[in-house]
Amino acid sequence: MIKRNTGFANLTAGYLFPEIARRRREYVASHPEAKIISLGIGNTTEPLSKHIASKMSEYCLALATPEGYSGYGDEQGNSALRARIAEVFYPGLVDASEVFISDGAKCDIARIQTLFGREVKVAVQDPAYPVYVDGSVVVGAAGENNGTGYNGITYLPCSPENDFFPDLSKVEPNTLIYFCSPNNPTGAVATKDQLKKLVDFANKNGCIIIFDAAYCEFIRDKNLPKTIYEIEGAKTCAIEVNSFSKPAGFTGVRLGWSIVPNELKFEDSSSVNKDWNRVMTTLFNGASNVAQAGGLAALDEQGLQDMKAQVDYYLANGHKIKETLDGENFKKMGVEAFFTGNGPYVWAKFPGKKSWEVFDAILDKCHIVTTPGSGFGPAGESFIRFSSFGHKADIEEACKRLSKFEM
Ligand SMILES: *Cc1c(COP(=O)(O)O)cnc(C)c1O
Repeated sequence: MIKRNTGFANLTAGYLFPEIARRRREYVASHPEAKIISLGIGNTTEPLSKHIASKMSEYCLALATPEGYSGYGDEQGNSALRARIAEVFYPGLVDASEVFISDGAKCDIARIQTLFGREVKVAVQDPAYPVYVDGSVVVGAAGENNGTGYNGITYLPCSPENDFFPDLSKVEPNTLIYFCSPNNPTGAVATKDQLKKLVDFANKNGCIIIFDAAYCEFIRDKNLPKTIYEIEGAKTCAIEVNSFSKPAGFTGVRLGWSIVPNELKFEDSSSVNKDWNRVMTTLFNGASNVAQAGGLAALDEQGLQDMKAQVDYYLANGHKIKETLDGENFKKMGVEAFFTGNGPYVWAKFPGKKSWEVFDAILDKCHIVTTPGSGFGPAGESFIRFSSFGHKADIEEACKRLSKFEM
């Protein structure tokens, strides 16, 4: 018999979202009358822009003609799309040769682990998007699970007390640092000064930052950095991953990209970009050409307008949720709600309560599914994440119910 990859055995049982789904199923089974609204999973809900969908459809029909057909494309992505991403998101900052198109940011984060292997030291913000830790566990880079976390991973608590920016002095030299801004789940957005600190630290200590900018299009404050490459020195220490999933509703279409700067080097001064090119050509065969046609449409004038409108829609939901959580009933419970208006999540602290306890109470009393903060890491305990992804009418109904919540 073949031995099981020890990394899988090492994964914490009950991944967050399946556990949420289980509790929801169980509740509905005993309360069939409950009209459940989900403010839980970070999935998009609004239909694609007609413009973007038509362009994909046209492209797709052309594939059925001899002139329009194409098979495998360049594994790094359609060159027009690579150039357009560089131009739209990184004007004057990134060259098209540094842009790699993919099937999504999560998939890139998983593939990135193959670049560094099991020997690399890993640090994550705590709380964090689960794939940074779980991907490290699968490749064997996380060490053992000690009940609250993995002993091979440095957890960097991010809380209201430190303005959601971690104490970097805990990070050892030559560490891979995962950093997400705007953050999932806290919604915090790092300022230029904060990112400068991070970049300077990484350059000084031989670290590489994996910067997850999946929510950059939610940033409305012009002073906040939308990419890490706005920070001087980032090109020698940072990889950025990004995605069309959230701003264009491409969670099902699947399209993302990563930026691996030509200046970025390993210890032996070999090029990270060259190895990433190798990963993409050897282990990946390029993103769907139909999805890439959609990506190009999303980045023309109409597409950019449509993406902005879609993000505005979700941000308005977020403001509504924040307003509700600032209500008298929540004040009485000592709840503090954090929402920056520059990301899709509202992060709320319920002092003295466990996250799962609050989750169950909100499910029971309001018939609303949320996400327990503890599922994102030890420092998420006693927080709840409210997502603004949802139809406006559902959010309004959810807020009406929440305004009467007590526990
Ligand atoms: C949703 C999300 C992504 C996007 O993943 P895709 O694979 O591109 O759909 C990446 N990072 C974070 C933090 C996310 O919340």
